[in-house]
Amino acid sequence: MAGSLSDPQVADLLERETRRRDSTLQLLAGETPASPAVRAALTSDLGAKYAEGYPGARYHGGCSVADEVENLAIERAAALFGADYVNVQPLSGSIAGLSVYAAFAQPGDPILALGLRYGGHQTHGSRANFSGRWFAPIHYGVRRSDERIDYTELRDLALLHRPRIIVAGASSHSRSFDFALLRTIADEAEAILWVDAAHLAGLVAGGVVDSPLPHADVVTLSTHKVLQGPRGGMILARDEHRAVLQKAVHPFVQGGPSMNSIAAKAVCLRESGGEGFAQYAAATVTSAQRLGEALTAAGLRVVSGGTDLHLAVVDVSERGLTGIEAQRRLASAGIVVDRAVLPFDSRPVTEGSAIRFGTPCAVLAGLGPDAMGDVADWMTRALAVDVGATQHADIRHEIQLRLGG
Ligand SMILES: *Cc1c(COP(=O)(O)O)cnc(C)c1O
Repeated sequence: MAGSLSDPQVADLLERETRRRDSTLQLLAGETPASPAVRAALTSDLGAKYAEGYPGARYHGGCSVADEVENLAIERAAALFGADYVNVQPLSGSIAGLSVYAAFAQPGDPILALGLRYGGHQTHGSRANFSGRWFAPIHYGVRRSDERIDYTELRDLALLHRPRIIVAGASSHSRSFDFALLRTIADEAEAILWVDAAHLAGLVAGGVVDSPLPHADVVTLSTHKVLQGPRGGMILARDEHRAVLQKAVHPFVQGGPSMNSIAAKAVCLRESGGEGFAQYAAATVTSAQRLGEALTAAGLRVVSGGTDLHLAVVDVSERGLTGIEAQRRLASAGIVVDRAVLPFDSRPVTEGSAIRFGTPCAVLAGLGPDAMGDVADWMTRALAVDVGATQHADIRHEIQLRLGG
């Protein structure tokens, strides 16, 4: 496909990106290759369509097909997730989050969320992000003893600070949240319960983790993570919040929606309701659990002792490595992971003492639960401090053979 581009410089870069991706093992938690049907929708003529507003109430002419496409995406999301209200316009998960803040909080309001160091996200009150600058974040964390969310601390903080919004959701925490308990705490504190399901959405669609929907006021998600859709975001909510959320996304936060992306979201929502997707979601979680167990057996520590999800955080400090060094070593052996921090890490976020792995891409590339013993073996060999370029090249070659290239 890249070869048909008339711009040789970019065509070459795109070809190299495809080669890079196909010849290395993607153990990333937050990205997946979209299906051919999703990609086809992304390159369709709808990409050029200006459709500011909502179906039946647009600012531009010629929106009859755009209206049908958006309504279809909304219907499919409502059916798949069992939501009353759906907004498919958010351009990303973060922008969906910004809209939630806009709908429910005023500048300066307290918000309660998982701290970045415990696996939280920038948009949950980090100082470097609007959420930390424009609101007054209070952070809960995990217990030192078992590295699980400390709901006693969370409740105490909620009753003390009376946040406008309680945020449940994480980027690098491998355990499920107790949504029912969070609902009772939010009720006690009279707060909005926002579940940021950026990572979870695909697992919820696949039926392998509990849906936050019966408990949350509002749920946001990214469509390009485990869900395998186009890069984008989405909001699901109870009907009572329809009016504020509708206005928050447009015109408060966004202008025209990305209509080709909305068509691609519709395609992805159909695909992710199928049996094949449920099997992929289940294999993704089983693979993450097996990989965690195999790495533990090899003497590495997995944060909280394992995972309920598609990802886990692995301590590399006992191997004398920082997270960023471990990431570099694995990359040299053809294994792509993110660096991460431990819950009580003494190193800065930019370095970390851990890596985060995720299994969706591996499963899609044919390396599922049964391959995880080999994946752990490649990883532990690559991380050994006394090995160098030659051994890394050997591992890279073994991986390429397994990936069929
Ligand atoms: C990935 C992620 C987001 C949003 O990411 P986008 O890149 O903006 O789609 C939001 N919250 C959490 C917890 C995430 O992991």
